[in-house]
Amino acid sequence: MTVFGTGYLGATHAACMAELGHEVLGVDVDAAKIERLKAGDVPFYEPGLPEILKRNIEAGRLSFTTSYEEAAEFGDVHFIGVGTPQRRGEYSADLKYVNAVIETLGPLLKRPALIAGKSTVPVGTAQALSKRLSEIAPAGDDVELVWNPEFLREGYAVKDTLEPDRIVAGVKPGGKAETILRDVYAKALSTGTPFLVMDYATAELVKVSANAFLATKISFINAMAEMCEAVGGDVTLLADAIGHDARIGRRFLNAGLGFGGGCLPKDIRAFMARAGELGADQALTFLREVDSINMRRRSRMVEVATEAVGGTLIGKNVAVLGAAFKPDSDDVRDSPALNVAGMMQLKGAAVSVYDPKAMENSSKVFPTLNYSESIEDACEKADIVLVLTEWPEFRNLDPQILDGVVRQKIIADGRTCLNPHTWIDAGWTFRALGRSVSV
Ligand code: NAD
Repeated sequence: MTVFGTGYLGATHAACMAELGHEVLGVDVDAAKIERLKAGDVPFYEPGLPEILKRNIEAGRLSFTTSYEEAAEFGDVHFIGVGTPQRRGEYSADLKYVNAVIETLGPLLKRPALIAGKSTVPVGTAQALSKRLSEIAPAGDDVELVWNPEFLREGYAVKDTLEPDRIVAGVKPGGKAETILRDVYAKALSTGTPFLVMDYATAELVKVSANAFLATKISFINAMAEMCEAVGGDVTLLADAIGHDARIGRRFLNAGLGFGGGCLPKDIRAFMARAGELGADQALTFLREVDSINMRRRSRMVEVATEAVGGTLIGKNVAVLGAAFKPDSDDVRDSPALNVAGMMQLKGAAVSVYDPKAMENSSKVFPTLNYSESIEDACEKADIVLVLTEWPEFRNLDPQILDGVVRQKIIADGRTCLNPHTWIDAGWTFRALGRSVSV
């Protein structure tokens, strides 16, 4: 089989499919990325992936190429995992990479094949791609398309791919796609993973509605954080208390800076855009509010930090701990942490950023910020320390190591991940989103 696109999704999928025993060829247009992968080097941070990448290359089950001709010859099943980013200046998804795979691969398909789309796409895409394939593939209707959305989480991508919660297959009635896909995932299915077969549109909707639900849960608790700030309550106690209700659940109820990354923000926007195109925009107007609650948290963080240092950031040194959009990842796409760091710099602060894994990516996106080698380096002469990504080394930070390093002992917790008492007892002024100061 082949996997087109070897980014976070594709490289993980290719290595995991090889781990399941398949012969896999990863394909990308980025020659530098392919060279690194060939050498057994994962071009991004994902726990556990380097080991299975190397193991499967050495076992001869996994290889990489930039050649579509080689891929068409090699594979009977072709996965598509290329990006579907937000269009610049618009909400809708840009399908140019998915379309490019179909337009380039399609004419090379001379024998029966299954194309399995994994990228997150607007509802209606699979139907259109299936029609296009039947026009351009020499093997005609013997080239089938299945939509098989991916639910992996960065940081847990290997486990999520090898042991998914469920496998969704959007198929055209009467084809062989279901049988072939069941065969591909036989190992996962043998352990009882649900295999859910449906039409194309529903499969596409499953993915974006799952992301819309998760985004809504986060923005819900962040709206409650705004209420807690208005009355001096504590959103972490609130989340624990409502989370005990099994109908609500405690997971994904952590208040803080909100969601970011390469998926949730662009996926809910693309979902709204598609609803508009379908004349169903009213169904998703609530997502506009979900998005704005999310973005408001970032400016609120800047306000909280500014107030804490006396009302202005001009001439202030700010230490930002965290740059990745979440821990266990080096992904800085739409990162709330970097967004806050950038806003504070614009307001006159000298900002120094430290992240255990995302420094290289951050300095590409925000070259004007200062980057530090360590927590202590970033905090040198800081007027305030901000924790903006919930890495364990920040969560468990011992205030003592910053004694004599910072200029002022003020810490602001953007992820409700610190124990306020640890910091207050060590003589620090403690600020947080959604929690009253006196905790
Ligand atoms: P990414 O940007 O990390 O990777 C995309 C890759 O596709 C890049 O390496 C790029 O060079 C390659 N590419 C672009 N055009 C190509 C072409 N014509 N042929 C071959 N390769 C091409 O993106 P990602 O995070 O892996 O996301 C990919 C898709 O998966 C998106 O639709 C995303 O929404 C979805 N998804 C991502 C995640 C995640 O956690 N990252 C989870 C679920 C779904």
